[in-house]
Amino acid sequence: MQSKPYLREHPDPAGYFGTYGGASVPPELAREMEKIHEAYQTIGNSHDFIMKLRDIREHFQGRPTPVYYAKRLTEQIGGARLYLKREDLNHTGAHKLNHCMGEALLASYLGKRKLIAETGAGQHGVALATAAAYFGLDCEIHMGEVDIAKEHPNVVRMKILGATVVPVGVGQRTLKEAVDSAFAAYLTDPVNSIYCIGSVVGPHPFPMMVRDFQAVVGIEAREQFQQMTGWLPDHVVACVGGGSNAMGIFSAFIDDPTELWGVEPLGVGTKLGEHAASLTYGHDGDLHGFRSIVLENPDGTPAAVHSVASGLDYPSVGPEHAYLNKTLGRTHAAGASDAEAIDAFYRLSRLEGIIPALESAHAVAYAIKLAKAKPYQSILVNLSGRGDKDIDFVYETYPPPDAAPPSDPVGGH
Ligand SMILES: *Cc1c(COP(=O)(O)O)cnc(C)c1O
Repeated sequence: MQSKPYLREHPDPAGYFGTYGGASVPPELAREMEKIHEAYQTIGNSHDFIMKLRDIREHFQGRPTPVYYAKRLTEQIGGARLYLKREDLNHTGAHKLNHCMGEALLASYLGKRKLIAETGAGQHGVALATAAAYFGLDCEIHMGEVDIAKEHPNVVRMKILGATVVPVGVGQRTLKEAVDSAFAAYLTDPVNSIYCIGSVVGPHPFPMMVRDFQAVVGIEAREQFQQMTGWLPDHVVACVGGGSNAMGIFSAFIDDPTELWGVEPLGVGTKLGEHAASLTYGHDGDLHGFRSIVLENPDGTPAAVHSVASGLDYPSVGPEHAYLNKTLGRTHAAGASDAEAIDAFYRLSRLEGIIPALESAHAVAYAIKLAKAKPYQSILVNLSGRGDKDIDFVYETYPPPDAAPPSDPVGGH
């Protein structure tokens, strides 16, 4: 998997990408991280593991997902050609299953019986519950009570798939408390259970493992794009929450001349609490066991964040993104606001018949801005997920201009 010079050399043996990353966790957790790392290096690099994962990807997930030329969108924008890597067509409708199946396969090799994780909007919880069902493992998802009330369909999905949803009722009752609760549950039985993180974040080895499991997106897309056009794309664009879908596609192009754009949620304004753009507005700091760029209050606590896309509202970013952007200058930190993402959501739906996830709509929105400035070039967008989960919210909160007034009977004849 790690055949490229950059990937072979990063992270360093201690899990650092330059000054970012590492594993600053309590000793009992550090020992578990070390065991997972060792298992990943041995089992994860065995022929048997690699073949099993390939089989799962082809026959269960539906990989490879296609690269698609968005002709009508390209013609409407009138600039660079726009191509989409269709991760929305991956089973469960997003890229998250790529690393969940990898993490769960490793867990099954290790003889673990239970997968534990937190979830915010529920997307990671659903993907992990799916992986647990596939492998016949127990699954325990910790979720803040506020999120449980907000994300009802995903809570139902997890329960149908056989997962236990543990409500977290302390503090703000959202993602941060859910992380603490999931870690605590994991530490009560680290022998029989394993913690499965949802992005390229957390202590080493998770940012590396999740990147490697997501690298399939970039490996496929690079080859497909070349087969389709004869060239490499001039630009690759992906949204960045924690950064797993972006690292997945970027990782195949780091040694190429292709420009890489990580699109952060600019939300509704530039003040703390109005966005979740860590690379754009954040500073060096520590969160959840790793060093990266964080959005902090003056007192050093993690800042409240906002994005119309709940999968992007995290007050930090994976350490490798911090390194590629701040240290190496290899990636650009770009952004799209709530309003731009909503506009892109409707454009892609109506011009191409593809309803994108609101997270992915941020990448499309920035690609549209970039396309206008780069005629005759090509842009490959990672369409990280489909928008089924967002349709009710968008239609009610940002109805299309030609929508029937809410008082009209819907679907009447
Ligand atoms: C969770 C999610 C994201 C954000 O996660 P990353 O780790 O930044 O990729 C993006 N798109 C979709 C569809 C998601 O579900």
